[in-house]
Amino acid sequence: MRISDLRQQLRAAGALPRHEARVLRLWAQALPQTSGKRRIEHFLPQALREALPGIESQLQGLARIVSTHPGQDGSERLLVGLADGQTVESVLLPRDGLCISSQVGCAVGCVFCMTGQGGLVRQVGSAEMVAQVVLARQRRAVKKVVFMGMGEPAHNLDNVIEAIDLLGTAGNIGHKNIVFSTVGDPRVFERLAQQTVKPALALSLHTTNNELRERLLPRAPRMTGEEIVERGQAYARATGYPIQYQWTLLEGINDGDDEIEGIVRLLAGKYGVLNMIPYNTVEGLDFKRPSWERAAEMARVLHRRGVLTKLRQSAGQDVEAGCGQLRARAAHQQIF
Ligand code: SF4
Repeated sequence: MRISDLRQQLRAAGALPRHEARVLRLWAQALPQTSGKRRIEHFLPQALREALPGIESQLQGLARIVSTHPGQDGSERLLVGLADGQTVESVLLPRDGLCISSQVGCAVGCVFCMTGQGGLVRQVGSAEMVAQVVLARQRRAVKKVVFMGMGEPAHNLDNVIEAIDLLGTAGNIGHKNIVFSTVGDPRVFERLAQQTVKPALALSLHTTNNELRERLLPRAPRMTGEEIVERGQAYARATGYPIQYQWTLLEGINDGDDEIEGIVRLLAGKYGVLNMIPYNTVEGLDFKRPSWERAAEMARVLHRRGVLTKLRQSAGQDVEAGCGQLRARAAHQQIF
């Protein structure tokens, strides 16, 4: 379901604009209603529930938690069931962050990613994206939302923009604390710059070798690393937010000295940060994570040569590694 459908439905049920705004705000913020000191199950006050019968249960039925998988680093992976039985993954990150999914599956087909192996199943509606935030908020505070879970947000742009707009206006999430993560798509740079709520941008580079990029990200739009950085820098200047350049480190593929030279050429002195994330090995996929020493050495050299580089672990590694694996495992268990 899209938020725009929901707005229409509320209006058709006779909701005044202030009622509509209140329903969406109370839902997105997941603030519990109280009776005296007692916390009650409803998120809408009684008057709104009576005026708009069924709306609360409809919103609550958009998503539910199928299973939870806490990690040792303070993160928690959630397998989230949608109303039609499809599942997506959300990850509660340390320091009040949340990573959500924008598609069931993904059409980009990155060769190192489990989600990419099954192709696109369906789009996630904007209301289902906000529902992932609501579920997470029922467990703990959420002050930052990153669109880095399953799916390529650029391939579901209208829904993602609607969700970002609601989170940044009624959802109490600071605009620069909303992160749109993409492999790079010309439409993203154009559309996001026009929005009232402009999110921060994370751009997946993974390599500076354009021919290798075509092999690693076979169905990503054909943009070179140079074009991606150029468009990213224009967006950074327009918003004042630094760009996060993402680099999944794969042993023997993109951890060589040639890539260090390429990164310095592309990113030295740019307004952004390079996030290097050593790969989480995925069963059935033939890629390996480089040693931590090699990753740390790359980060040190890049730093010295003018590229702000952060070496990161992906959240919840001890649980089920990378994005798409929980869902794949659940599907496997259903089949066998
Ligand atoms: Fe899609 Fe992201 Fe996986 Fe690539 S890494 S296939 S863009 S979900």
